[in-house]
This record gives sequence, C-alpha cells and structure tokens, in this order.
Amino acid sequence: MYHSLYIHVPFCSGGKCDYCAFYSIGDSTPELREKYLNRLEEEFTEHASECAPLRSIFVGGGTPSALATEELSQLLGAVRRNFTLTPDCEWSMEANPDSLTMEKLHAALEGGVSRLSLGVQSFQPHLRERLGRRGSLETLPELVAQARKLGLPKLNFDLIYDIPGQTLPDWDSDLHAALSLSPEHLSCYSLIFEENTPLSRRLKPPVDDEFFLQCWHHNDDLLAAHGLPRYEISNFAAQENRCRHNWEIWHGQTYLGCGPAAVSFDGEDRPANPADLTAWLDHAPPTHDHLAPDARRREIFAFAFRTVVGWTWELLDKTLGLTQKDLANRPEIQSLIGQNWIILDNSGIRPTPRGLIFNDQLLEALL
Ligand code: SF4
Repeated sequence: MYHSLYIHVPFCSGGKCDYCAFYSIGDSTPELREKYLNRLEEEFTEHASECAPLRSIFVGGGTPSALATEELSQLLGAVRRNFTLTPDCEWSMEANPDSLTMEKLHAALEGGVSRLSLGVQSFQPHLRERLGRRGSLETLPELVAQARKLGLPKLNFDLIYDIPGQTLPDWDSDLHAALSLSPEHLSCYSLIFEENTPLSRRLKPPVDDEFFLQCWHHNDDLLAAHGLPRYEISNFAAQENRCRHNWEIWHGQTYLGCGPAAVSFDGEDRPANPADLTAWLDHAPPTHDHLAPDARRREIFAFAFRTVVGWTWELLDKTLGLTQKDLANRPEIQSLIGQNWIILDNSGIRPTPRGLIFNDQLLEALL
C-alpha cells in the first residue's frame, strides 16, 4: 500500500533555469496541459485502490504554479476525487513566486494545500543572474502576506549557496532576507553542477570545500538561533514543521508517484515513469529498479542517515525489524563508529556531524 502521493508537474514558465536538471518543459500550451491533466487523472484512478489514506501529498516539478488557475484547481480537485486523505494529511505544493498569482494562491489553499514551498534560490539579482534563475521576486512579500492572511500554516523557501563568486556576507544576507519573512522551514541546497546544463558549460565548480563548509556551519549557527535547527543535510525546521513527505520517505515510507518522471516506492520496487511527456501521455510503461530484498533493506537503512536523527530504535524496529542488539556488535557498524562516521547509543543510530557533511561517502560505506 502507498501512504503518500507525489505528483510531478512537468511545466515551467518562460524557459528553464541554467542549473536545472529536473524533468520539465520550459514552455507549454493550454492543449498540452489539458492532455497532461486528463492523463494524470487516469493515472490517479488506476492506482487509487493501491493507496491507504494519504498521510502526505507533494505537488512538485517543474513548477506547479506554471499551470493556469483553473488547471491548478482541476489538478487539486482530481486528487480529492480519487484519494482518501488522513484528517491531518500534509499537502505541500512547490511554486515559483514569479508565476504564483494571487488567484493561483487562493486556488491552491482552497484546494487543500497546507504547505507552500517557494523557489527563491537567492534574493540578490547578481546571484540570480549568475545561476540563470528565471523570473523575479517582486511580488514575494505580498504573496507571503496574503498566504498568511488566508491561513497558510506552513511556508518554506528554497535557497542555493556555494555559488561561484558568492561571499559569506552574500549568503548571510540571503538567509536574513528569508528569515525576515518568517518561514516555518528553510531548504538550503549547495549548488550542484549537473551535467549538460547551461550552468555547467558556463561556470566551473569550486576547487575545494572551504566556502561550502563556511556556509554549512553558518547555516547551523544562524538558523538554529532563529528556531530552525538542521534536521537533514539541506533542511531546517523545528520538529513539528519538518516536511512530513520527505521525512517519511527518508525513513522507508511508501509513495505513489504520478506524472512523467515520477518515481513510486512500494516497499520493494521503485517503478519510474518515463521522463518524457509524450511517452508518458502515450502510456509508456515505467522502468523498474530491481534490487534483491537484502540490498533494498540496506538502501532503506542507509537513506535515513541523511537526517540528523537517523533512526530511533523504535522506528528502526518498526520499519526493518532491527534492534540495538542486532546492530551494536556488527563489525561494519563498529568500524563506522571507529572512523567517526556514525554514533550508536541508547536513543538510536545516526550520523556524526562529519557523516552528515560528507554524506555521500557515508552512504557509500553503508550500502
Ligand atoms: S523553475 Fe525549477 S524546475 Fe523549472 S527550470 Fe527552474 S529550477 Fe528547474
């Protein structure tokens, strides 16, 4: 059974950002979006019976706010028609402040969205330009004020750091600009130079980790002082405001993915829809990532080490049937403790600060 739902909206408005490797189309027509919405509802209908009452929904992309107001209402209405939601289901939606009009904001909140994630990336024009980030932030303060007036309980901003040429005061100023709008949650991503993007053709990645580490530590100090402690590599919030959808996925939760490029996880298999709108509209089947049950369990175990808490013993037992006794004497766990990658104590098992910063290496060791 699936407990969460992810919906991929494969449209952005006004072209693609230079650093972006997500599957999306920079321009679309009303006809194409209509086909997408019809096929999406077909996919909902096909899989709804495989879903338990949904604990979380995440509408991402692409840019969900690239849909017209009526299209957005249609999408949210189709979710409600096809799925049952738990009474406290957390419903997140991503939006670009540039394409999120007041009407779309109303439609989103009326449609059930309870958590809005706004792609800001940087408040500073020169850094937005360096990133090749599309759109403007002109309406952002007004949007935030209106969202609060309408009762939006949870607000996130996405920000990017470790941009070539960025200074620590630049980054500090972006964090303060975000904090001045009182979000419950901040996602701070270090810039990734994805292959075959205009950004990676235009700029060179930094040669060392020095600036990245300065920003990393500044994030911990400043954001914790403002009530947003780090809870995952790139995410900061008080416990009650963690993104439920992602938190549960990092701890092995099942989810249904709908839309092109969307991935599902049923506890054993990870079917992935084609990252091609035309193929998906034509009902091309998903690809499967076959893993032996043992390897899948290791993957689920390792994934939680993205979070500061890692596994509590209670959750690990419930999810993978593993106890403190099972793990404490395993040589590979002892070796990772000895190398200062993980901590094991009576509350659970989790990454050390080093294990969190150099998480790829830790995950490699765990897998
Ligand atoms: S708006 Fe988001 S999904 Fe669209 S191109 Fe920019 S980064 Fe990618």
